[in-house]
Amino acid sequence: MSRREDIERVLASCENCDSVYAARQWPDGDIQIIGQDGCSCGTSTFEVVEQTDVLDDPDEFDTAAGTGAE
Ligand SMILES: [Zn+2]
Repeated sequence: MSRREDIERVLASCENCDSVYAARQWPDGDIQIIGQDGCSCGTSTFEVVEQTDVLDDPDEFDTAAGTGAE
């Protein structure tokens, strides 16, 4: 039973100002944004926005704006 690193890359939004950061979510649910300890507004509480690798594919965001075109 070796411990695996089930750390997921996620997008996390600040609960205070809704700024979105690249973050990692630990198996225990802990969310830590990458590169800094907390949001620039001083908050260190975040919630997950996406659990995908859209960070490498910004076009994902554009598709959401196209819904309802049919
Ligand atoms: Zn903030």
